[in-house]
Amino acid sequence: MEQSYLSLCEFLADAVFEMNREGRLIRVNPACSLISGYSAEELLHMDVLSLLDEKSREKAKVYYPLVLKGHFDRLELVMVRKDAARIHIECNMIPVDIDGHIESFFVIVKDVTAPQIMDVQSGVVLNSDPLTGLPNREQFVRRLEQLAGEGGGAGQAGSYTLIYLNVDRLQFINDSLGYVQGDLLLQHVAAVLRELLTPGGLVARMNGDEFALLSPASGEAQAATELADKAASMLSAPLQLLGLEIIASASMGIVLLNGSSSVEAGNLIGKAVMAMRHAKKHRPELQYALYTEEMDARLSCQLQLESGLRSAILLNQFYLRYQPIVNVYTGTIEAVEALLRWEHPELGIVPPDTFIPIAEETGEIIAIGGWVLRTACRQIRSWHDEGLILRIAVNVSLLQLREPDFPLFVKRVLDEAGLEPKWLDIEITESVLIEDQEQMKARLAELRSIGVHVAIDDFGTGYTSLNYLKNFPIDYLKIDRSFIRDINNDANNNIILASLIELAHHLKIQVIGEGIETQEQIEFLRSKGCDEGQGYLVSAAVDADEIWRLCSRLRP
Ligand code: C2E
Ligand code: MG
Ligand code: MG
Repeated sequence: MEQSYLSLCEFLADAVFEMNREGRLIRVNPACSLISGYSAEELLHMDVLSLLDEKSREKAKVYYPLVLKGHFDRLELVMVRKDAARIHIECNMIPVDIDGHIESFFVIVKDVTAPQIMDVQSGVVLNSDPLTGLPNREQFVRRLEQLAGEGGGAGQAGSYTLIYLNVDRLQFINDSLGYVQGDLLLQHVAAVLRELLTPGGLVARMNGDEFALLSPASGEAQAATELADKAASMLSAPLQLLGLEIIASASMGIVLLNGSSSVEAGNLIGKAVMAMRHAKKHRPELQYALYTEEMDARLSCQLQLESGLRSAILLNQFYLRYQPIVNVYTGTIEAVEALLRWEHPELGIVPPDTFIPIAEETGEIIAIGGWVLRTACRQIRSWHDEGLILRIAVNVSLLQLREPDFPLFVKRVLDEAGLEPKWLDIEITESVLIEDQEQMKARLAELRSIGVHVAIDDFGTGYTSLNYLKNFPIDYLKIDRSFIRDINNDANNNIILASLIELAHHLKIQVIGEGIETQEQIEFLRSKGCDEGQGYLVSAAVDADEIWRLCSRLRP
């Protein structure tokens, strides 16, 4: 009887606490750990009152003498979990009556918090994550805000360490082993973090593969990094997924909260995420990074650029420079590449390598790229009108190319400028081709059907081979300047370069060498049959007037 009773308790979804007459816990089932966040070992011998919030403790104290006299009723209380989350519970007391004497009580506890904040539409419980049973982002934020409320600052509330964790390779595991295994990985991470919890702290699943741990242990850098180290080493305990041994890992961002820190929850989480991204970027050396002011400065610079970019077109802060592209045999300028410049009112001239990636991230590149194309086409048209006949190469980002009506847009710009399409080269980087091969192939074919040329920029920096390129409709290959730089420094480089040129010609693709700085380099390219070249040897990017001057000097 005792045995079957125990196994019933084992499987019961409700938590069954057994307490003695003094209110100490003497037996618990597994559901007790789930509901309270404490392990069975921690729960045993705990005073049941210590699981309740202050009000509930008072309520229980009043009620208990009645229970001892034989009045059993349902009671609603608030439990404070080990992670400090508060949950509403419903308790039912059943006395364990041995020979007419009450020795102990079973307290059956149900979490009734969930239905109160159930999302009616999805039926999902909002306050905790069903997969890991951990509090969710909302609860984590609430706890951080609560800290701010305690005495108006973390100073009085104590020192804390906040660790934001991003689990590595979850997508990979989902894709290769299936979502069930991905879920097991997440549960493993949740279990590790739970173990690291100390009273007053909190662990939450923030979203998909991100977790956060708030530990009141210490606001000292050394203690915080020790905690992160411990998390890393516990995570890396081998995990069996479908018979494969997986070593889990995560990138972590750490923020220290102490007396002087502001405890605005969103701000703190933002800092921790920033540090986490820093760690991820610098893997494998860093598995965790401590947030620094410098990261903030970088972010605020990025934000300054981001907001500046939005109005840069309107405020006329962009202009184009043109770099000549010459026939390597005759030295004649055949084309110019339009290179974008941004004059920021406070930061001065911001190089394109800095602001183009930001414009790509924010999507602003579509408008900016449109401005570049229009300005470049107008410029070349006006040169044509003055008798200077050149092609113009314009750099185009993946985001622009992805726009379904990009070819139509190009056509409209050409029409507006009254420029024949054959004078325009669209430069794209080879990474574009890896994106969505079929879509890109179709897009490039559409562009070529208008009559413009397509050039692959910075060739050799990505992963594509020339063999792969033969599937794409391409007119020019621009060999990246790293190959040109190594001419005659590295025998293998010379061989690769020579065969690249030969192969490209075989595929009816013309070759442009980029970044030519020396006579030796241009001579080598000539000797291998390269068609055109560009680089400081001829000229850096200059303004339109200077192009006129160079053309009259370099043209026969
Ligand atoms: P890119 O298209 O490969 O442009 C060539 C870059 O190499 C230019 O830098 C140019 O000034 C530099 N360069 C030219 N000759 C030499 C040389 O002999 N030695 C060295 N060391 N460098 C040389 P820039 O103007 O700073 O542009 C950097 C990149 O920014 C461009 O690389 C391009 O990817 C991007 N970019 C520039 N303008 C635009 C634009 O309008 N739209 C887009 N999407 N990207 C642009
Ligand atoms: Mg280019
Ligand atoms: Mg290039």
